[in-house]
Amino acid sequence: MGNKDCLFCKIINKEIKSSIVYEDKDILAFKDIHPQAPVHILIIPKQHIEKISDLDEQKKDIVSNLILIANNLARDNKIDKQGYRLVFNCGPDAGQLVFHIHLHLLGGRKMAWPPG
Ligand code: 5GP
Ligand code: ZN
Repeated sequence: MGNKDCLFCKIINKEIKSSIVYEDKDILAFKDIHPQAPVHILIIPKQHIEKISDLDEQKKDIVSNLILIANNLARDNKIDKQGYRLVFNCGPDAGQLVFHIHLHLLGGRKMAWPPG
């Protein structure tokens, strides 16, 4: 299943180990290997879609599902009251490194704005 050259498809298929914090039939969430905050979780659809700009009318519900799971994980990690940041990096200028849509959930510290 998925794209054989995609790192996150390999994580979904358990070919590559990760620290999974949530899984259902459509979504996987796991800890980022290089955390940028005390809480740094990646929430991904199991469907291989390269980037947020590839979403269309048919696939648009995927994003709201990722956000609902991120909100639940923020509550589980007790960062919901203090606040958290949800980030999609899309394309080279945004610093996207893995071309399988992923939502970053970041929290547990004060964040700067604008982002670097
Ligand atoms: P991007 O820059 O594409 O938005 O974010 C990719 C994220 O994936 C980075 O935060 C990076 O630390 C994380 N990452 C890259 N490779 C792995 C891996 O093998 N396992 C996990 N858990 N995270 C990874
Ligand atoms: Zn993939």
